[in-house]
Amino acid sequence: MATVRGAKIMAESLKQQGVDYMFGIVGFPVFAIASAAQRAGITYIGMRNEQAASYAAQAAGYLLGRPQACLVVSGPGVIHAISGLANAQANCWPMILIGGASGIVQNGRGAFQEERQVMAVSQFCKYAHAVEDARRIPFYVEQAVRTSFYGRPGAVYLDMPDDVILQEVDESEVRPAATIPDAPRPQAMEENIESALSALESAKRPLVIVGKGMAWSRAENEVREFIERTQLPFLASPMGKGVVPDNHPLSVGAARTLALQEADLIFLMGARLNWIMHFGLPPRFSKDVRVIQLDASAEEIGTNVPAEVALVGDGKAVAAQLNRALNDRQWFYPAETEWRTALAAKAADNQATVQPMIDDDSSPTNYYRAFKDISNWLPDGVIIVSEGANTMDIGRTQMPNNSPRSRLDAGSYGTMGVGMGFAVAAATVHPDRPVVAIEGDSGFGFSGMEIETMCRYKLPVKIVILNNGGIGGGLDELPTDKPIPAPILTPRARYDKMIEGFGGKGFLVENPKDLKATLDEAMAFDGPVIVNVLLDPKAGRKPQKFEWLTKEE
Ligand code: ADP
Ligand code: MG
Repeated sequence: MATVRGAKIMAESLKQQGVDYMFGIVGFPVFAIASAAQRAGITYIGMRNEQAASYAAQAAGYLLGRPQACLVVSGPGVIHAISGLANAQANCWPMILIGGASGIVQNGRGAFQEERQVMAVSQFCKYAHAVEDARRIPFYVEQAVRTSFYGRPGAVYLDMPDDVILQEVDESEVRPAATIPDAPRPQAMEENIESALSALESAKRPLVIVGKGMAWSRAENEVREFIERTQLPFLASPMGKGVVPDNHPLSVGAARTLALQEADLIFLMGARLNWIMHFGLPPRFSKDVRVIQLDASAEEIGTNVPAEVALVGDGKAVAAQLNRALNDRQWFYPAETEWRTALAAKAADNQATVQPMIDDDSSPTNYYRAFKDISNWLPDGVIIVSEGANTMDIGRTQMPNNSPRSRLDAGSYGTMGVGMGFAVAAATVHPDRPVVAIEGDSGFGFSGMEIETMCRYKLPVKIVILNNGGIGGGLDELPTDKPIPAPILTPRARYDKMIEGFGGKGFLVENPKDLKATLDEAMAFDGPVIVNVLLDPKAGRKPQKFEWLTKEE
C-alpha cells in the first residue's frame, strides 16, 4: 500500500477546499508544505516578512470569496503573522494561517523556535487548532476553512508540528473530508423586511450606509437595484466604496459629515457603527437617530445604538428580499426634498473649499493637487490599495471607486503596513487588472521590502508614494542641533531608487507640472514602479468640522 506524508496531505486538502494561493516564507519545518502545495497546483508566493504575507493572504481571500493561505515557520514566523490574523478579524475577512511548529516530541524542551502557538494566536482567530496526526489533516482543514468563511468571516489557524509534516502514513488510513460548498446565504425574517421598508418610508432624512460586508457578500447588483428603486441617498464606508459607484447621482459621500449628522434614520448595510462611523453617536450623529441594521452576525446588532429593525442574514440574499418586497410598494424617496437640497448644497460647498488646493500648481505640491492627476490617471478596472494618514484620508475623497472590492486600505483596524502585501495579493489573483498602491511615505516603509517580491514575480504594481517626509508631516531639513522629533522621517527620501536595485523602475516628481507625464510613463512600464512624489512637508487636509477621533459630547 502506498504511503503519503503530512505535507502532501495538507497541500491536497487545502487545494480541495478552494485554497488556490499561498503566501509565505519557508524555512524549518514548512519547506515540504510549500513544495507539496506547488505540486498540488497552489500558486505559492514567497515574501519577505510573514506580516506582509499574512496581509496578502487575507486580501486574496476577500477578493476571491474563499479563504486563501499564509504559510509561516514556527515561533517568530507565527508571531509576525499574528498581525495579519488580527487585521483579518477586524476586517471580517477570511484567511487561513498554517504555522510550522517544532516537533511534538520536543515540546517543552526549548526546541528551535518553540512557541505555544495555538495559545498565542487564539485571541486573534475564530478557530485555532494543532494537528496531532497526519491522518486527520483533511478533517482539520475542512473545519478551519469552513469556519473562516461561513457566517461572519475571519481568521483561522492550524499548527503543523515538524513530526506531523514528515509523518508517513498509509494512504488508506487518511480520512477524506467533504468539499465545502459556498457559504450559506440566510435570509432575514419576512416581517422584518416589511418593517425596514416601512421605517424607511417614514423617515424624513434617510441615509443608506453601504459597508464592506456588502462587498464581501457580492451584493453589488442587489444593492444598486435597491438604491435606484428607492432613490435613497447613500454613502459608502471606506472599503464599501464601489459597491454602488462613487459617481452615482444618489451618492452623498461628498457631504459625509452633514449626511451622518442630520440623518434621522440610517440603514446600515454590512457596515458597523465603530470608530469609522463615529459609533453612531453625537456629535457626529443626531441623538435620536433611528437605525436599521443588516448584518450577517446577529451579535453585531445593536452595537453602540439599538437597532429599530434588525435584518440578520446574508447581504446579497437580504438585499434581494428587499427588492422583491418593493414590488408590492410603489414607494421611492421623493426627488425634491429639503434633505436632498441640503446634501447637494453641502457637497458643492465642500468641493469649493478644496478647489483652490486642487488648482494650486506651486511646488512642492499638496495632496489635492497630486490627487487631481492621480485620479484622472487611474485606469478602468483598477484595484486601489491605499494607506497612510492624509494620503489615505484625502485619497478616499479624491479617488473614486466605480466597482466593488476595488479598494484595499488600512481598514477597520487602521493598520499601517498592509499596503504592499495587499498589492502583491491583488496583482497575483487578478493579473488582468491594474493595481495601483497610493502610499504615504511612512505607510510604505512598514513593508517596503515587498517591492523585491513584486520585482521577483514580475507583478506590475504601480506604487505612488506621497512623500511628505514624516508621519502627518515632516521638516525641510533634519535638525542638527536637537533630537529629531518623533514623527519626522528623512526629507526627500529617494524611495524611487530602492526599486531600481531589484529591476523595477523609479521616478522622482519634484514639481506637480511633471506628475501627469510621469504617471503615464509609469503605467507604460511593464513591471513594478515607484513614483516618488515630493510633497510640501506641511501639506494637510481641508479644515475639518470635527476632530479626527471625535469623542462623545
Ligand atoms: P465597514 O468598514 O464597511 O463598516 P465593517 O467591517 O465594519 O465594514 O462591517 C462589515 C459588517 O458586514 C460586519 O459587521 C460583518 O458581520 C458584516 N458581514 C460580513 N459578511 C456579511 C454578509 N455576507 N452579509 C451581510 N453582512 C456581512
Ligand atoms: Mg508621510
